[in-house]
Amino acid sequence: MAPLGPAPDHEHFRLYYPATEEPLADVHIADEESLRAAVSIARETFEQGFWSTMLPSERARIMRRIEQTISRHSEELALLHTLETGIPIAQARAMYIPRSAENFGFFADLLASHAGETYEQTGRYLSIVTREPVGVALVIAPWNAPTVLSSMKLAAAIAMGNSVILKPSEYAPLSILRMIELAYEAGLPEGVVQVVCGTGETVGAYLTQHPGIDAVGFIGGTATGKRIMASAAGTLKKVGLELGGKSANIVLATADLERAIDGSLMAIFSGNGEQCLAGARILVEDSIADEFIEKFVTRTRALRVGDPLDVSTEIGPLAFRQHFEKVSGFAEEAVSNSHYRVLCGGSPCEQFDCGFFFEPTVVETNSNSGRLCQEEIFGPFVTIQRVTGIDDALETANDSDYGLVGYVWSDHLPSVMKIRKQLRTGTVLVNTPMARDLRAPFGGVRQSGIGRDGLPGSIELFTEEKSTLIPHAPLDLPKFGADGAP
Ligand code: NDP
Repeated sequence: MAPLGPAPDHEHFRLYYPATEEPLADVHIADEESLRAAVSIARETFEQGFWSTMLPSERARIMRRIEQTISRHSEELALLHTLETGIPIAQARAMYIPRSAENFGFFADLLASHAGETYEQTGRYLSIVTREPVGVALVIAPWNAPTVLSSMKLAAAIAMGNSVILKPSEYAPLSILRMIELAYEAGLPEGVVQVVCGTGETVGAYLTQHPGIDAVGFIGGTATGKRIMASAAGTLKKVGLELGGKSANIVLATADLERAIDGSLMAIFSGNGEQCLAGARILVEDSIADEFIEKFVTRTRALRVGDPLDVSTEIGPLAFRQHFEKVSGFAEEAVSNSHYRVLCGGSPCEQFDCGFFFEPTVVETNSNSGRLCQEEIFGPFVTIQRVTGIDDALETANDSDYGLVGYVWSDHLPSVMKIRKQLRTGTVLVNTPMARDLRAPFGGVRQSGIGRDGLPGSIELFTEEKSTLIPHAPLDLPKFGADGAP
């Protein structure tokens, strides 16, 4: 295994509040020794069996207490979430933190009905198929929705009895650290979950190749996902990859236009547009395009951009400087390239003298091949393309390396059914933005990922199937070697 690399020249990294660029916290960076210790504590905890062999009903009871404790501390968690991500506090309160708590409740409830399979009618054997925990799982989280995305994987992993090492993004570790502290306050036994902080290239890369890790649940960008898969290959770890997207949002002439506008605004601008499932490419049918675009742009101009701690704010600052510069680079291309027409936004917000505020941006284009339609921008930035009808919409939507989500707005069932069938994405959302349901598998096709969150994918990632075969009656076995025996 490769060493961790050159020792960092500092033991902490500094987080900044993205609205003011003021220092927020100094976070300790794990060194190689503490990472080794974390892996061996996770292994010992697993093998000692206090959690891994605990009665499922008892594990479920503790996980429900974790859900309740997170809910009781939701205001504090929402504040940390907003301070580190810049996502408006109203959204953290309404969506991100409640869903983080619910993830623990969902997998606790699952334990009551989680069962294996038996096959006894068809052969000479009673075949029993059970699922056993993989052992030590690594969960790697992105910065855009730290608690909700990490808890989705974490809750599945611990429900199945695993020990977990959780690596937050270096840009957003605070809400995760507090969430896990609360899990311990709720009764999680010592050592079951450990949080290690540091950069992906050092701490993340070290852990993904460590032989003491049995499975990696990763949520993040596609390029990183490829690196993780390569790094985990050396020890053949199980890997689940929830990666990026560039989701098409198809608005047909048969849509309820007002609802389609409300939904399309939410699909791209909630969470500051920093969402894997953002509806970042609007494909609108020609016959309604003028009206849709005029209304959509008017509403975009009216979005309230500002202090994410103000409950009326709809768009906060981008999460950190490098990301702000990346989004600005796409906007510069939109302004300078004749394939694009900037309908609104396109620059950093002038009214703020600090912070990473970027104007909500709408760009019209008739070319699907440029960077703005093919690459994930991950900000309050949407392209609009006119399409002639369903076939054109499908061809344009599917002309992408990604395949996470597809949206369709229409009240005409046959059109919806055709699009549903032919969109090459892991999820299709009909007349709704941003829906998630843990019972419905969520994940991507093509370069949007491998595996699924929710059921049954989360359970499959963090367990191994074991088959046990027992004959119904003593078998009449051939007597190898009996003829030659003295
Ligand atoms: P990154 O891929 O940059 O990082 C994700 C996590 O991986 C971070 O914790 C990061 O650490 C870590 N990491 C980076 N390099 C390595 C490495 N070589 N080995 C191990 N770990 C590494 O993504 P972002 O944090 O920028 O998140 C945004 C991306 O996540 C977007 O592409 C978005 O679409 C995707 N995403 C996908 C979701 C899905 O469900 N499909 C949900 C949400 C987001 P550090 O940050 O400390 O460097």
